[in-house]
Amino acid sequence: MAWKPSEKEEEYFARMEFERKKKLEEEKHQSLALEEKQRLKELHYMKCPKCGMELIEIDYKGIKVDKCSECEGVWLDAGELEAVANLEKTGLDKLFSVFKK
Ligand SMILES: [Zn+2]
Repeated sequence: MAWKPSEKEEEYFARMEFERKKKLEEEKHQSLALEEKQRLKELHYMKCPKCGMELIEIDYKGIKVDKCSECEGVWLDAGELEAVANLEKTGLDKLFSVFKK
């Protein structure tokens, strides 16, 4: 079956239109994903990843340790596990004693 040039053109423009709309939709999805990410970040900021209660942050020798006010889980930011691991035994004991009741 032979195509007339104008039909080919129509097909071409329809495909262009589809591509353009698809791109718009993809951009919408991307900004939605960003908004959702931002929303979740605000929702979960300084909340315990296990039980969802507030975290209490203490600063010990520049290491910020977050302790849950409910389940007593202790959370570290990126790089802080290494910093804690590098503490001397006495430094570690002092860090733990901060949390003792
Ligand atoms: Zn917790």
